[in-house]
Amino acid sequence: MRIYNVVGYTLLILHALVSAFLAPPHLGPGGGLVVGVLYLLFIWLVAGLYLPEILHMGIAHRALEFKGWFVKSTTLLCNAVAIYVNPRSWVNRHRHHHAFSDHDGDPNKLGADGFWKTLSLCLFPYKCQFDLARDSIFETWPMRLASSPGFAVAAQASSYAFVWALVSDWVYALALWFSVRLVGLWTNMMQNYWTHDRRFGARRYDDDDNAMNIGDWLPVTATFSACLQNNHHHYPQFLRLSHAADEYDFGFQVARLMKSLGLVRASNTGGRLPAGLDLKELGF
Ligand SMILES: [Zn+2]
Repeated sequence: MRIYNVVGYTLLILHALVSAFLAPPHLGPGGGLVVGVLYLLFIWLVAGLYLPEILHMGIAHRALEFKGWFVKSTTLLCNAVAIYVNPRSWVNRHRHHHAFSDHDGDPNKLGADGFWKTLSLCLFPYKCQFDLARDSIFETWPMRLASSPGFAVAAQASSYAFVWALVSDWVYALALWFSVRLVGLWTNMMQNYWTHDRRFGARRYDDDDNAMNIGDWLPVTATFSACLQNNHHHYPQFLRLSHAADEYDFGFQVARLMKSLGLVRASNTGGRLPAGLDLKELGF
């Protein structure tokens, strides 16, 4: 089994153990396990809609056009009760990441950075040189609020209070709050480290960066397909991260579901099928 899968499954098992065995008496191990799993699924779903779908393909690459109310409400929900990620800073960093992938100027990782350096960069990235996030949506009040330093601090307290309200035990709530963040850090490392190191995954395109495709079930499902980095870096404006009909693409399936619910549509650039792809049709 690949090391990134070993780490991912280990963290999931650890979360299950924490959920069951640190549970207070009124929940018991069985009730604790159910609460812990549901809490993790909730975080995965909300953060998956917010980061890889809305911030990434919606705002940063303008490949998907979401309803404004859906963008703003998901941003507030994810940041207040799930995991805080500053939307404006993230989009700015991500545009730097594409402009300077694995080279000077990439805030996520330089070519020579190893595992521990990249892990620390997930929390304290390199400084961005420019302001590449001047989109009008960041001038709306929900996005200004979510991008403010005060909200960043308050969100840590409100996300913890949310778990505490679920389980009524402050130590257990803290353990769950911390454990899901470890899983979140792993999904961040899937994108910033394992799919940006040529020793892992595969390449469809020989570009001047270290972006790789990792197509295993767990990383693709956990990151909503954001680990198909080699495909994505080659055609960053294209709304699909899978470039072949048989490539598993969970994020695309979710985007299709959201389209059927009227929440999103393809942008002109996002919906244009690049020439020379194995895909015969967009399928959106
Ligand atoms: Zn991208």
